Amino acid sequence: MVTDNPSDSPNEENEKLDVLKSTQTVVKIALEQLGYPDEVYDLLKEPIRMMTVRIPVRMDDDSIKIFTGYRAQHNDAVGPTKGGVRFHPHVSEKEVKALSIWMSLKAGIVDLPYGGGKGGIVCDPREMSFRELEGLSRGYVRAISQIVGPTKDIPAPDVFTNPQIMAWMMDEYSRIDEFNNPGFITGKPIVLGGSHGRESATAKGVTICIDEAVKKKNIKVKGSRVVIQGFGNAGSYLAKFMHDAGAKVVGISDAYGGLYDPNGLDIDYLLDRRDSFGTVTKLFSDTITNDELLELECDILVPAAVENQITEKNAHKINASIIVEAANGPTTLEATRILSERGILLVPDVLASAGGVTVSYFEWVQNNQGYYWSEEEIEEKLYKVMTKGFNAVYSTAETRKVDMRLAAYMVGVRKMAEAARFRGWI
Ligand code: NAD
Repeated sequence: MVTDNPSDSPNEENEKLDVLKSTQTVVKIALEQLGYPDEVYDLLKEPIRMMTVRIPVRMDDDSIKIFTGYRAQHNDAVGPTKGGVRFHPHVSEKEVKALSIWMSLKAGIVDLPYGGGKGGIVCDPREMSFRELEGLSRGYVRAISQIVGPTKDIPAPDVFTNPQIMAWMMDEYSRIDEFNNPGFITGKPIVLGGSHGRESATAKGVTICIDEAVKKKNIKVKGSRVVIQGFGNAGSYLAKFMHDAGAKVVGISDAYGGLYDPNGLDIDYLLDRRDSFGTVTKLFSDTITNDELLELECDILVPAAVENQITEKNAHKINASIIVEAANGPTTLEATRILSERGILLVPDVLASAGGVTVSYFEWVQNNQGYYWSEEEIEEKLYKVMTKGFNAVYSTAETRKVDMRLAAYMVGVRKMAEAARFRGWI
């Protein structure tokens, strides 16, 4: 890897971008601040269970391709583990482990009866046919079926996976189990036991965090300038919610580039033209780069795409008052420190993106009870959960005089550490 800073060796550089290592660093500091002994960190620094699977899929040209998949279960002291499945060419064991730890922290922050889990398959779904994706989704479930289930570990969507993929996975698990088992997975289509509000839940949760964060900075959402990186599930719904609330969405992007208009982009048009992978900028010639997008002048910046987007290289150039992390792990630790010193309010991923797992929890509860709630009921419940989580983290940051990320980790680890203690594990 070539680095811009000659003092950074490739190893140092890789280490700073190592999401597992940086997650472990903050978990360790959070536990120290809370006064827990070292063995608690030893338990929580890695998933309790990690499965690697090889999935053979018959491709459309009749060849057999073998895909690698992972499922990480971070900690099940509180309850079953829960977390999405990511289909992406860059999925790695380390990333899946870090994502599972973040899921545990999210569940702790918004007080859900879960530990964290996460899965991923190394693949590029944009290059695969519908039939090949179905084969891969079903093959993954067959490979991990022994360690997942509605009372063990409950998958959900993440990057490049959607309700259709959840439906195939649910169907495959139900066949293995020999009865209809909607509680096995969340993020399903409504007709298969999905919940109202699940598709937009992550963005709704981010919106609630934005509403709370602007109060702290004396900014009004109406008329504010918003920049969003990523135009997939999280980013596109968020653009819609911000636009509808009267904010000016001046910048958006996808994996191929960004669009900028200081007068506000035509969000309804962009939503209409985006494809199912969250791509829209390919239709335009006057695009900017993702690096340029992150440095645009705005009030609220929302990274809603992938990891390690705000680093020590560009943290000094960020021109926002508030950053709300819809994506998992978009900001490195060094960048978090720089942004905090610059007085930028950063609402961390483990809090801001917890709306998705919260409505997934509502979906699982509805599947278990067989009684379904209206969209209004879901919204009301989500609002209560997210504002409570935001205020718990904000007040911890204030009283402990720490940044919001460390405060969120402190709130997030406490419940699982206590549960592990009561169980006599530590
Ligand atoms: P998605 O697959 O629907 O969309 C991803 C978007 O990011 C697409 O627009 C894609 O083009 C863009 N993108 C991909 N690589 C990029 C790059 N290198 N630079 C800029 N843009 C890039 O995914 P999603 O579900 O919206 O998830 C986005 C982020 O939010 C992820 O970090 C995910 O873990 C997190 N998240 C999602 C949920 C959820 O419920 N969907 C919940 C919590 C957290």
